[in-house]
Amino acid sequence: MNPKTVKPESIAAQALGWIDEQTRAVTPPIHVSSTYLRDPDNQYRSGRVYARADNPAFDQAEAVVTALEQGTAALLFASGMAAATAVFQALSPGDHVLAPKVMYWSLRNWLMNFATHWGLQVELIDMADPAVVRAAIRPGQTKLVWVETPANPLWTITDIAATAAIAHAAGAKLAVDSTVASPVLSQPLLLGADIVMHAATKYLGGHSDLIAGVLVARENDAFWQRVRTVRAQLGGTLGSFESFLLLRGMRTLYLRVRQASASAQRIAEHFAQHRHVEAVLYPGLPGFAGHEVAKRQMSGGFGGMLSIRARGGEAAAIATAAQVELWKRATSLGGTESLVEHRASVEGVGTPAPADLLRLSVGIEDAGDLINDLEQALARAHG
Ligand SMILES: *Cc1c(COP(=O)(O)O)cnc(C)c1O
Repeated sequence: MNPKTVKPESIAAQALGWIDEQTRAVTPPIHVSSTYLRDPDNQYRSGRVYARADNPAFDQAEAVVTALEQGTAALLFASGMAAATAVFQALSPGDHVLAPKVMYWSLRNWLMNFATHWGLQVELIDMADPAVVRAAIRPGQTKLVWVETPANPLWTITDIAATAAIAHAAGAKLAVDSTVASPVLSQPLLLGADIVMHAATKYLGGHSDLIAGVLVARENDAFWQRVRTVRAQLGGTLGSFESFLLLRGMRTLYLRVRQASASAQRIAEHFAQHRHVEAVLYPGLPGFAGHEVAKRQMSGGFGGMLSIRARGGEAAAIATAAQVELWKRATSLGGTESLVEHRASVEGVGTPAPADLLRLSVGIEDAGDLINDLEQALARAHG
C-alpha cells in the first residue's frame, strides 16, 4: 500500500497493509524478546540491541500513526503522560515554555510541581488568544509552546497555524496534544506544529483496555533524537502486547471517531436549550467561542467530547451523574462506551472546571439511547 495514494481510512483499516514476511500473516506476531543477537563481528546490523530502546512490536503501529499524521517519525510510549513529559524532558534547565491554563490536569500538575523543580520556566497562559501568546513568548528563551486543542475539560480551541507562526518566529517549537481531535479530525503537523502527541489510551486504542502514548514528528531533527533518547534511557517504553492492542484498535479508528463525533454533535444540539442545563460546551455549536477556528482546522466533525453545565450547581451535576444508567460514571475518554464525569471532583484545587460541569465522552452506542438516558438522569436529579 502506498500511503500517499490511498485515503487514511484505508491506511488505518489495513494498518498500512503490512504482511509478516515469514508467515504471510495479515496480522503481525507479538514480539516479546527483550534482547537481540549480536553479529559475530560485534555489530548490531538488525539495528536493535535491547527492547527498552527498540522493539519490532512498535514498528507497524508507529508507521501507521506517522502516516495518519503525515509526519516523518513516531515514538510509542507507556502512556500519554510518558509521551508528553518526554518532550519537556528533552529541554534544558532555564528554558522557558508556554502551556495553556486549560489543559489535561495531570500534565499541568506535573509541569507546575516537577518540571519547574528541574529548572524549566513554565508559564501558563490563555492559549486561545494569539495576542496573549505573542505577548508572553520570549524570543530565544522560549523553546517550546505546548498546545491542547480541543482542550480538557472546556474544549477550548487554539488556532494551531497562528500559534505555530508565533512560536517559530521566536525560535520555539510547537507541540500539540491532539488526543481529543485524533488524526481523523485534525492534522496539526500540516498546520505547522513540530510535534503532535496523543494519549493513545483514548481514541487510537479506542477500547478502554490499554494505557499508551505516542509522539509524531514533522522533522527527524536533533530535538527529536533527544526525545528518542529520553524514551530509551528513562524507559517509558510501551509493552509488546499493548503495542499489538493499539495496532488492532487503530484499524477501526475512523468508524469509531466519526460515529462518536456525529453523536456528540446531536447530543450537544439536543441539550443546548434545555431547562435543566445551564450551558453546553462543544466546539461544534455555532455559539461556542472557538467554533470558527475549529471549523478551519478540524474536518469531518468536532470530536466526541463535550461538557454540560447542570442548572442547580454542583449538587445537581453530581446528582445527574448518579442517575445515569447507560452512560458509565468513570474517568477517561475515547472508548466505545460513553462516560460521564464530574470533572471538578477529579481535578481538585486550581481546576478551571466549574463545579456544575459534567464531562461527557461519547461512545459508539445509539445516540438516541444516550440522549434518553441523560434526559431521565437530568429529570430525576431535578426531581
Ligand atoms: C488521557 C490524556 C492524557 C494522558 O494520557 P495517559 O495515557 O492517561 O497517560 C493526556 N492528554 C489528554 C488530552 C488526555 O485525555
